[in-house]
This record gives sequence, C-alpha cells and structure tokens, in this order.
Amino acid sequence: MSRARRGGFLETERLRPIIAIDGPAGAGKSIVARRLAAELGFTFVDTGAIYRAFAYVARQSGVATDDPTTLGGLASDLVREGALRFDFGAGGTRVFHLGDEITSFLRLSHIGIAASLVSAHSEVRDAFLDLQRELGSLGGTVFEGRDIGTVVFPNADVKFFLTASPQVRAERRVTELQTKGEKVSLDDTLHQVQRRDHLDSMRLVAPLRRARDAAIIDSSALTIDETVVLMAHHVRAFDFDHGES
Ligand code: C5P
Repeated sequence: MSRARRGGFLETERLRPIIAIDGPAGAGKSIVARRLAAELGFTFVDTGAIYRAFAYVARQSGVATDDPTTLGGLASDLVREGALRFDFGAGGTRVFHLGDEITSFLRLSHIGIAASLVSAHSEVRDAFLDLQRELGSLGGTVFEGRDIGTVVFPNADVKFFLTASPQVRAERRVTELQTKGEKVSLDDTLHQVQRRDHLDSMRLVAPLRRARDAAIIDSSALTIDETVVLMAHHVRAFDFDHGES
C-alpha cells in the first residue's frame, strides 16, 4: 500500500489494506463481507452491530431515540468504560454488554429501526468513530456499514457499494428473520426496508451514499457466492502500491 493513499487518524500505522463495503439494509453486506474476509485472510468488522448494540442498551436504559444529548453521553460512557465487547468471528458477530451476551436481541426488526434512529445523531456517531478506526488500525480488515468509505475510512484501499432492489432485500430479510423465529410479512418488511433506507440516506450526518470511488455491486440477480467471487476478483485486481485497479 502506498504512503500517498494513507492519511487520517491512525491510518499511518496501517500495514495491510482496508476494504470498505457500504450499502442499504438487506443488501447482504454482512454475509458477503464475512465471506470476502475469510477468502482474503482478513478480519471482518460489522459496524451495524455497534449501532444495534447501542440501540439495545439505550432502550434498556430508557433513553429516548430523540434525545441526542443523553444518547451521546451514554455512547461515550460505554466506549470509555469498554462496556461493549464485539466478537466478529467467522460464525457470526457476538456482542456482550458488561459481560452479558446480547447477540440474540440485535437482529430483531425493532432494534434495526431503533439503530437507524439513534445513529442519526452526530453525538452518537462521534462517540463510536475512534472505536471503529482502532478496530481497523492494523489493516487487513473488511468493514461493512453505511459510512465506511465516506467517513470512517475515506482512504480505504478498496471501496464497494453493495446494493440490491428493495423487493429482493425485503425477501432476503424475511428469510433471515424467519430463520430466527420472528414472524414477519413481506409487505411489512418491505415497508421497514424502505423506511430504513429513507432514514439512513436522508439524515444530515454521515448519510448512506456511495463514495465517489466505490465500485457499485448490484446483487439483485447474484447469489452470495457469485457476489463474493466478483468482489474478491476486484480486490485482487487492485494495485495497492499505486491505488488503481
Ligand atoms: O447494517 P445493519 O442493518 O446492522 O445496521 C443497523 C443500522 O445501523 C442501520 O440501519 C444504520 O442506521 C446504522 N448504521 C450506521 N452506520 C454504519 C452501520 C450501521 O448508521 N456504519
């Protein structure tokens, strides 16, 4: 990786590449990012889990989603005290709050919406920014989220914007939630996917949008395997010394 492409907080320490994968809810980012990381021998960080865990803890603490000052204070406290622990293992992300596992609550659809609401506040995003950058400080990491290529790692070595049609994303989310035992209809899920798209792309701070230098991958008609192969090919074709593919 060339020095010219480095820059920003902690990025000068980085020896191996950062891969950024952003995109809307239900595009398959988590599974694809995890598989791509395994394929490349990289580690994987699911940043949605950070906002979902925070939304869960805020809810348990009775803090309203429209109270940015209290939310920001809570987020800073959690980071400072190391109260949240993330295990982004190959088998799936596990999250612990004060030592108690909270993983099973985080993929519930109401926590997804709550995560969108609390993550819209700059007080909350600022509190989790350095934590995410520290997780990538050594490089060799695939990050997935909404603002990785635009805000968290604007100098990421390879950037993807992974998307799919709202209908396909809703169908995938229904399958995922049903395997977790949640009863959901396609219509309600499509409505939630569109609501989250709206919240995530219209917010003022770090909105969901494609970084100018991100490759767009539309996975509507692709299987997970095909998507991973396509992205791995793109990464391997990348000339890390000169910042070009
Ligand atoms: O990706 P996932 O569905 O787990 O993310 C949950 C919510 O967290 C998103 O809808 C979004 O509002 C927020 N998020 C974010 N920035 C990220 C990752 C997730 O704002 N980097």
